[in-house]
Amino acid sequence: MAHGATPDIRVNTHPHIGTNKLPGIIENMRETILQYGGEIHFEKKLTALQQNAAGHIQIQLNGAENFEAKALLLATGHSARDIFELLQHNAIAIESKPFALGVRIEHPQQIIDAQQYHCEVRDEHLPPASYSLVQQVNNRGVFSFCMCPGGIIAPAATAPGEIVVNGWSPSKRNNPFANSGMVVQITEADIAAYAKQQKQKASALTAMHLQQAIEQQAYQAGGGKLKAPAQRMIDFIRNVVSSDLPECSYQPGLVSRSLKEVLPDYIHQTLQQGLHAFGKKMPSYYTNEAVLVATESRTSSPVRIPRDNTTLQHPQLKGLFPCGEGAGYAGGIVSAAIDGERCAEAIAAYYQ
Ligand SMILES: Cc1cc2nc3c(=O)[nH]c(=O)nc-3n(C[C@H](O)[C@H](O)[C@H](O)COP(=O)(O)OP(=O)(O)OC[C@H]3O[C@@H](n4cnc5c(N)ncnc54)[C@H](O)[C@@H]3O)c2cc1C
Repeated sequence: MAHGATPDIRVNTHPHIGTNKLPGIIENMRETILQYGGEIHFEKKLTALQQNAAGHIQIQLNGAENFEAKALLLATGHSARDIFELLQHNAIAIESKPFALGVRIEHPQQIIDAQQYHCEVRDEHLPPASYSLVQQVNNRGVFSFCMCPGGIIAPAATAPGEIVVNGWSPSKRNNPFANSGMVVQITEADIAAYAKQQKQKASALTAMHLQQAIEQQAYQAGGGKLKAPAQRMIDFIRNVVSSDLPECSYQPGLVSRSLKEVLPDYIHQTLQQGLHAFGKKMPSYYTNEAVLVATESRTSSPVRIPRDNTTLQHPQLKGLFPCGEGAGYAGGIVSAAIDGERCAEAIAAYYQ
């Protein structure tokens, strides 16, 4: 709030700032950091990391500039594949981590409003309706994730040759569509099976490679540009390629494909059964007006960077504090921020 969010985030059950307001809020946060003596180095990428003879962390930025510090907070997010590879290459312990993957599903907001409010047209005093769905299918969880009423499906890949989608809502949540991640748990057994299928020894990066392969598959299925492969919901459940697709908020556009081409069988089948079950809980939800867009793959990190429960330091590298979503200790903005505070306190204690 101190940086520009509206006061209602203190009392709302689902506090929402609005992605359109975030650039200004981030600028305000940056100003606070500068006021307290912090420095911000733009366009600087961490390219090397090791412990030196003095027991300090030595880092290199952009392959050239060297820095040394007693403590380093590493919070590079769940998409920093180069950092996971760097740690693995330097034999700094990391672990493969189960995560969840699936699609983003979009309905006209009016369908969700009618279902949730039991009326044809939402009263102007009511906010666009949301939902939260969860189901166990053959001992595997399938659940909605990051539901965005009045939202937009956005491209969120971080490298060429991949399709990743995510969702966001403007502060007024006034887009005509409701979208949500709809994802399936990927277990350690699935990760081990993928390594075997690839005829590779399972490693800490196997889950990440599986995630990347599915994103690349989506890119190919989408025709090699940023168009995303998509299927109407009931067509998806009935294994029919959609003859056409509904209007969708995903700006780069959609291509009608069977998502069987993109998703591993166990995810495809679990999603089919999960969506069928959700249709029993919310009958209007089960409609061919809804479209499934592949792929929602960055729900959480596929890698964990281990740390001591008390000192929050890496077990091998004294002074290295793995932090936030990429290290596997958060899922979402608030938990990442809280983990950042915990690590900052641990670093302060380490300096005493
Ligand atoms: C479109 C979209 C909408 C979202 N909406 C929501 C929402 O409504 N609610 C919610 O709770 N969460 C939402 N999320 C998820 C949320 O953004 C993350 O959970 C959160 O940002 C994780 O915080 P973090 O600090 O751990 O990592 P990040 O915010 O990912 O920060 C990591 C930082 O490290 C930098 N970095 C990476 N590699 C290097 C390197 N080698 N050198 C230097 N810097 C590097 C990155 O550029 C980045 O700035 C959304 C995500 C997306 C993409």
